[in-house]
Amino acid sequence: MRLLVLPGDGIGPEITAATVTVLEAVSRRFELGLVLDHDVVGHASLKVHGATVRPELLDMARASDGVVLGPTATFDFKDEAKGEINPSMFFRKNLDLFANIRPSRTYPGLPTRFNPFDLVVVRENTEGFYADRNMAQGNGEILVTDDVSIALRRITRQCCARIARAGFELAARRGKHVTLVHKANVLKITDGMFLEECRKVAAEFPDVKVDDLIVDAMMAHAIRAPERFDVIVTTNMFGDILSDLTAEMSGSLGLGGSINAGTDHAMAQASHGSAPDIAGRDIANPFSLILSCALLLDWHGRRKGLPVFEAAANAIDTAVEQALATGEVTPDVGGKLGTRTTGEALAARLLAA
Ligand code: NAD
Repeated sequence: MRLLVLPGDGIGPEITAATVTVLEAVSRRFELGLVLDHDVVGHASLKVHGATVRPELLDMARASDGVVLGPTATFDFKDEAKGEINPSMFFRKNLDLFANIRPSRTYPGLPTRFNPFDLVVVRENTEGFYADRNMAQGNGEILVTDDVSIALRRITRQCCARIARAGFELAARRGKHVTLVHKANVLKITDGMFLEECRKVAAEFPDVKVDDLIVDAMMAHAIRAPERFDVIVTTNMFGDILSDLTAEMSGSLGLGGSINAGTDHAMAQASHGSAPDIAGRDIANPFSLILSCALLLDWHGRRKGLPVFEAAANAIDTAVEQALATGEVTPDVGGKLGTRTTGEALAARLLAA
């Protein structure tokens, strides 16, 4: 398996280095033959190449079996004409990575204020309120006058149907329950279309129970009784927001792993951003990106019919669970280890198992 590794900004290089340590260990233990190609995106790329991301990376990504993308400082990237492109958008849009899969669960060894839960947010990734990816040309945000601005939210039947199918297929392998999250009471046409397409797909999965919640009420239900959810299918921005909440509810945003998957390509990417407030201090939790890579190994194994990759992914999940129970973790989840030593301890645990 060949992976393109792009560390990104802020805490990106620190959590990516720890992730590489773990990937190398799991490759040795399961004889995966992982080959890692390293390159740069974000500020490091802007400095050297004059752009935060370059077209060659797309060719490299297409030639790889997956991409590992660290968080980037997207808030800093304001002007595409100056090479300030959002790398996350660049890969999601150009590789058509339409499904952002973001699992969150509580861990037996890590107390939280919430009832134990195990859910997955399945977020549409290629349209919605993301102005930088929902137009064929131009941008969905428009400055009409200095005092008037408009943001366009694109919703298509095709994108709703394919994200619904990704969610129902996942639920069929898990708890057989899908919750559709929307705002169709106000966004009657767009979220009405989302619900309509999801329900058509639901009819193909008679064994999967389906219900729906309005997004604002969903926030209350998530806090009150997260255990009632299995797979949550939703549009782009709602899924982005909700999954940060569920990651933090599981113990820390630093546990928020995620994969961006399309038909032919996939990219591991932590749910969180570049966390400039803690960058360079060796305290960021690397588990988010490590768990994202486990999702990528699992995706590859299922697609290629190679169970050893699924076994490797499960081994990473188990090792993370054990590390959380024994306290070999970063301060955000109650430990005293640094980012680097957390990665080293996890790698040692994987090799010893
Ligand atoms: P953030 O997600 O980077 O951080 C939010 C909070 O969570 C901060 O307190 C941070 O310290 C903490 N946190 C995040 N990751 C952590 C980890 N691994 N371990 C421990 N604590 C962690 O959000 P922000 O500060 O609003 O954004 C910073 C930058 O990241 C902005 O430029 C934003 O646009 C960008 N961003 C990028 C992505 C991406 O690359 N996919 C996603 C979201 C935000």
